[in-house]
Amino acid sequence: MAAQDEVGIVDFVLLDEITLDKFMDNLRKRFKGGKIYTYIGEVCVSVNPYRTMNIYGPEHVSQYKGRELFENPPHIFAIADAAHKEMKQQGRDTCIVISGESGSGKTEASKIIMKYIAAVTNVGGRQEVERVKNVLLQSNAILEAFGNAKTNRNDNSSRFGKYMDINFDFKGDPIGGHINNYLLEKSRVILQQIGERNFHSFYQLLRGLTESELKAYQLSRDPDAYFYTQQGKSSKVNTINDGSDYKATNSAFKTLGFSSSEISTVWNTVAAILHLGNVTFKSQEESTKPADINVVNKAATMFSVTSGELSKALSERVIAARGEVMKKMHTLHEAEYGRDALAKAVYDRLFTWIVGKINAALNVQGELGKKSYMGTVIGVLDIYGFEIFDANSFEQFCINYCNEKLQQLFIELVLKQEQEEYRREGIEWKNVDFFNNQIICDLVEQPHKGVLAILDEACLNVGKVTDEMLLEAMDKKLAGHKHYTSRQLSPMDKELKHKEEFRIRHYAGDVVYNIDGFLDKNKDTLFQDFKRLLHNSSNKIISDMWPEGAMDITKTTKRPLTAGTLFRSSMINLVKTLTSKEPFYVRCIKPNEVKSPSLFDEERVKHQVCYLGLVENVRVRRAGFAYRQRYDKFLKRYKMISQFTWPNFRAGSDKDGTRVLIEEREFAHDVKYGNTKIFIRSPATLFALETARSELI
Ligand code: ADP
Ligand code: MG
Repeated sequence: MAAQDEVGIVDFVLLDEITLDKFMDNLRKRFKGGKIYTYIGEVCVSVNPYRTMNIYGPEHVSQYKGRELFENPPHIFAIADAAHKEMKQQGRDTCIVISGESGSGKTEASKIIMKYIAAVTNVGGRQEVERVKNVLLQSNAILEAFGNAKTNRNDNSSRFGKYMDINFDFKGDPIGGHINNYLLEKSRVILQQIGERNFHSFYQLLRGLTESELKAYQLSRDPDAYFYTQQGKSSKVNTINDGSDYKATNSAFKTLGFSSSEISTVWNTVAAILHLGNVTFKSQEESTKPADINVVNKAATMFSVTSGELSKALSERVIAARGEVMKKMHTLHEAEYGRDALAKAVYDRLFTWIVGKINAALNVQGELGKKSYMGTVIGVLDIYGFEIFDANSFEQFCINYCNEKLQQLFIELVLKQEQEEYRREGIEWKNVDFFNNQIICDLVEQPHKGVLAILDEACLNVGKVTDEMLLEAMDKKLAGHKHYTSRQLSPMDKELKHKEEFRIRHYAGDVVYNIDGFLDKNKDTLFQDFKRLLHNSSNKIISDMWPEGAMDITKTTKRPLTAGTLFRSSMINLVKTLTSKEPFYVRCIKPNEVKSPSLFDEERVKHQVCYLGLVENVRVRRAGFAYRQRYDKFLKRYKMISQFTWPNFRAGSDKDGTRVLIEEREFAHDVKYGNTKIFIRSPATLFALETARSELI
């Protein structure tokens, strides 16, 4: 291993002393020296450079292609290559788990990985593989247009979770893929904080259309003209060109084989939501009606429904009680709630539909697909990072729970792998203390006693339970839990200012949540009338998106699963998928809050290093042994430093050769011989080996 490249130490395992301070010193030194990647064994720590780095070109691709981790300076290419090599050579599914907080560089990392894989595969130039590679790369533009938004932390923040499987054939070439998407933050469609925007797609449409196209959509160019795109007061973002992004999105749609009517339906739907947001209501006597039918007309046209039908669905609902069907007029509050619920649901459904279309384009085709061919897979996980806002609600609760699950997985796998390796190699293992966040996962997901279960129970009592009552129920069941408290339980706590607030002590920090809206967001009700309305759209594509609108109103419908329950099961499945694969980790760190390429914010970075458990990671990796290597590879690198092994060891196995070399150099006290690998205890020995080697070359 090249223990030193130009700047600092390339692997934290080689620190002479493992303390937080030493870790920070090295990370800072590397960042300041323009080195954004550093290893902890096979884990890649990445610090967001906030500037264009000249390290991803074709010459870099060939530098890393087919090489071992230690042969080159640390790079995310090396991780991608290791995952690909492991899959190809061992026939094992692998996955690359990218974690870190919002704005730390996860999505960029996932794109770099995909570009690398595309660059090193299909040397034979097969057409179908080329198509799949294009679809894989182009799908990002679409997913980001519809699933990303400017937040106060990141101009291009992913507001959904993404896990992508890439299927490979026996040659190691990509032949298909599949995307799983997780919980889109759909509340953003109707509500944005100051400084933030709605999803990019809205601005792309408004800024990308020609004047005559704008007329066809009955839109005006200015995002400030629409309630759903003006709340953040920041519709223009310096780093984003919405107009040209609109073209890129459309060209990606074409590459992926979306038909022209599908593409126009997508944009019609986006336009419909903009119009819908401008519908206001007036109440008279017992009824509430849209104030301006012209606005309803525009939305109706985009949905391909009549304006009478849309107006009706916005003003009243049909309910079935004891077999009888009745009409009930909305109150003003219900009408507004219904409109916003419709906007959110339509966007969410559109997003899911788009992902479905991308998956269809990624389906393994031809011979390979037909023969139910089971190839191997590399999974890439890029999911929303841990998040603390000024106001935290149900969405942050889910996002942070997701991060707890991933941290749990990291602990499990990193420890497990380590333990298994020592056992497999017949080497004694000594435990390292970790904060185990299982207790927080349980707090959220346990049956009966967890927050999600209490929330679901409250949702069963439609109409009777308020958010305050939900909080009381949580207090009753969770009082005394080390990671939970509320205003009611700790009235003297200065952080909890309102009676609606509770706090969870997450692994990555304390988050105060406001219970307001939890019930609604968990129930996630959309009046059946809207589903019928859209199912009856004369646009077949829209109609097909709403199959449940065909259901008879008098048929008692099964209660739909709550948002929390759906999210929990998707997380459990995700963890299962990842556990079944050989994991590689990229741990992303955000150097500062101001997107500066030079500022290394000591406190912010230290906080991340702590909660990501990076120092513990180094300790576990080092528990006993700083370095391990297969005998054949070890000899390949160091054989020149011993007269017995240079140019080749002839008296026995690679293990014997290694032993001879180690004994000649008097390192025997510092190593253990496993079944297939040599384990070296102190970094000093490795330095000495490296030094001896570099003196000879
Ligand atoms: P996350 O997905 O973790 O929220 P992103 O991947 O969107 O964060 O990164 C946020 C921004 O940081 C990007 O838009 C880009 O400007 C910058 N960035 C991140 N990684 C890199 C990189 N490797 N090279 C250059 N800029 C980067
Ligand atoms: Mg992201």
